[in-house]
Amino acid sequence: MILAGMTLEELENLMAELKATKFRAKQIHNWIYTKSVSTIDEMTNLSKDFREQLKSIAQVTETKIKVKQVSKDGTIKYLVEYPDGECVETVLMRFDNRANLTACVSSQVGCAVNCSFCATGKGGFKRNLTYKEIIEQVLTIQRDTGLKVTNIVFMGQGEPLLNFDNVLKALEIFNNDFQIGQRRITISTSGIIPGIKRLADMDLQSTLAISLHASNHELRKKLMPIEEKYPIDNVKQALKEYVDKTGRRITVEYILIHGFNDTQTVAKELAYFLKDLKCNINLIPYNSVIENDYKKPTGTDIMKFKYLLEHSGKKVTVRLERGADIDAACGQLRGKRG
Ligand code: SF4
Repeated sequence: MILAGMTLEELENLMAELKATKFRAKQIHNWIYTKSVSTIDEMTNLSKDFREQLKSIAQVTETKIKVKQVSKDGTIKYLVEYPDGECVETVLMRFDNRANLTACVSSQVGCAVNCSFCATGKGGFKRNLTYKEIIEQVLTIQRDTGLKVTNIVFMGQGEPLLNFDNVLKALEIFNNDFQIGQRRITISTSGIIPGIKRLADMDLQSTLAISLHASNHELRKKLMPIEEKYPIDNVKQALKEYVDKTGRRITVEYILIHGFNDTQTVAKELAYFLKDLKCNINLIPYNSVIENDYKKPTGTDIMKFKYLLEHSGKKVTVRLERGADIDAACGQLRGKRG
């Protein structure tokens, strides 16, 4: 039996089976989620006899670090390996001016969405992660660094809304067991409309981010084949309904690719498209990861693009480049080793 991923209630039930007190469950829960131990032997406030009893039926984790890369800017990227040998990437990002430690987690092994700029998409879809496998990524970071993750973004490998139930269950455990506030958790989607509608019906405080990357159907189709199934206008309608139901502001993610979707004409079209959507915009300068024709935008083009969107009244940020000296872009590390 694996203890990581068990809720307090599940641990209490286990303790009842072992004829131990509820207080033991609390202690074990604390060792798993706050102190982030890897073994039962490290749970030093449990008696030796009880640890032996527990060890005969359970262990903390079976998840391993296969590769770890540390960037000069503090970003750490892990290739996490599950017992069946499948691997996913998870990244810890630190921002100098904030106390936040953000974990970027994967939700699937591989991805079926196949965005043209993404290394993960190129490898195709393998399988969904269970909620326990999702939370193991954050526990791996905590065990390795001894630090407590404060923010979670579902922006790693996979499309979270195509693994809805496991993502939601993981979110619940992040919230209840890791004590990470829902507002500190972001779910990012390529535009899976049924998933957006399901999220809209839930009373969540988390942020929904949409990977838009284009201002119209034709342009988006070239980057994201999912545009055929869920066209940009329908996605926008679903997002507007989401905002109406939840009152929450969306984050629009937009990768800037030189000469492709970073022109002033596109910026104006995007500003018009987003005019009636309650959103903030996050611009992500493209960082070449795989063999393709896409290029990094110039600094001037980024500023002009930003200016035009801001001029339309939106709050716009440009994402800082993290881990530029390691394989920090989605799918690169798994692509190399997997
Ligand atoms: S960018 Fe995200 S949704 Fe698109 S292929 Fe890569 S992992 Fe999948």
